[in-house]
Amino acid sequence: MKQHFIDNLWVAPASGGHIPVINPSHGTVFGHVARGNSDDIDLAVRAARTAFDGAWGRLTATERGRLLQKLSESLLQHMDELVQLESQDCGKPTNQARADVNSIARYFEFYAGAADKLMGETIPYQNGYTVFTIREPQGVTGHIVPWNYPMQIFGRSVGASLAAGNACVVKPAEDACLSILRVAELAAEVGFPAGAINVVTGYGHEAGDALSRHPDVDHISFTGSPNIGKLVIQTAAEHHTPVTLELGGKSPQIVFADADFDAMVPVVVDAIVRNSGQTCSAGSRVLVERSAYEAVVARLTAAFEALRVGPAEMDLDCGPLIRDSQLQRVKAYLDEAKRDGLTVAAQGHLVADAPAGGFYQVPTLIRDVPPTHRLAQEEVFGPVLVIMPFEDDAHAVQLANDTAFGLVSSIWTRDGGRQLRMARQMQSGQVFINNYGAGGGIELPFGGVKASGHGREKGFEALYSFTVLKTISIKHD
Ligand code: ADP
Repeated sequence: MKQHFIDNLWVAPASGGHIPVINPSHGTVFGHVARGNSDDIDLAVRAARTAFDGAWGRLTATERGRLLQKLSESLLQHMDELVQLESQDCGKPTNQARADVNSIARYFEFYAGAADKLMGETIPYQNGYTVFTIREPQGVTGHIVPWNYPMQIFGRSVGASLAAGNACVVKPAEDACLSILRVAELAAEVGFPAGAINVVTGYGHEAGDALSRHPDVDHISFTGSPNIGKLVIQTAAEHHTPVTLELGGKSPQIVFADADFDAMVPVVVDAIVRNSGQTCSAGSRVLVERSAYEAVVARLTAAFEALRVGPAEMDLDCGPLIRDSQLQRVKAYLDEAKRDGLTVAAQGHLVADAPAGGFYQVPTLIRDVPPTHRLAQEEVFGPVLVIMPFEDDAHAVQLANDTAFGLVSSIWTRDGGRQLRMARQMQSGQVFINNYGAGGGIELPFGGVKASGHGREKGFEALYSFTVLKTISIKHD
């Protein structure tokens, strides 16, 4: 059994309990992780506080940056091992697991460089005063991580928080702990002081809840579902703990008739098929200008029919979903679509020798979906793409913004004026023009509006969330 990683040591869970680790490609148990509870969280928070007040907190920003850089290099040196772990644990096709390792290494590289460039300002004020701001770390930050991109999300939130000078307690998702535990161990090996990075595994309602309600945690960074996000922010409010929330989306790709279809089609397909659609920023709705609608449906149909699904080790377009309950959830959406008479335009194919116990869903393209249908409104978190026509710019804007979410949107057109006019009207944290950024963009501030959450991660912007701005006013005569 894998234990918690606290204070640079493997620590047995206080409860003695464990959680089975399942390989989604085969549906088989291949290990166990510790089932953490509030005692384990308390131990980890105390370790983090001691590190923050001691060996870790004493380092200069440049020294912190050097450690982050060392970890980045170590992650790349352990590429094959991490790819293998992540593929087995999460069902990611090898090339996608490899992309995740490259991303986490890049996050640590980016935040290594940023650590000693986080500065305050001087502020013009009344005569006889000098006023300036400094950015101080918050202290102990809690990170509740989902199962879809464990390494990437660890990189973007823990990387930024460490660079800003905080000590971290991480609660990975119960389905996806192995890579994160190994990354924490590698951090210890490259020289991170004990307590700077602590990982407590366990269920959300036990370990996750204990982390969000802990009185000595100074910030919570949560990525996950909207309902749990709501719960976490309510729990954290008890101690006035600030929370960054990233809660997913129903992100539209708007395609005009003048778009470069050759460039657009592979990007649109990748944005819903990558990680089997289990991506917060998946491009899950395609809105197409009426005059080009049938042509785009035909192109996407051909692309979807060529997609192949199978076990992670076969490294195909799509692996399995993370677990059976997720598969059943996606299937329920598809059954509902069938009952409502919606048209499946195309589906990919499961390879003939796919293991019977794996959690497979073939990519599915559904056409003419009414904008109010649940499939056009709700996050499916599977490889299901809906497509619908629009009449003009105003209609496209209305459809694009007409969901509870607002994470990412994209606009495909060669018309420069339209690109910017549309971009300004999108209710989303990111807008891509003639490209789409699912899964990448370490440097680009990322986060949502509306039910997609609040606060920004990635890029330099993320560092601000992990600091407290202090204003110092000096009166000198
Ligand atoms: P999903 O439905 O995709 O599994 P969740 O929002 O349930 O997404 O999970 C995201 C993360 O939140 C996971 O690490 C999970 O363990 C954690 N979590 C789930 N429930 C709670 C809770 N009540 N409090 C804190 N964290 C939770």
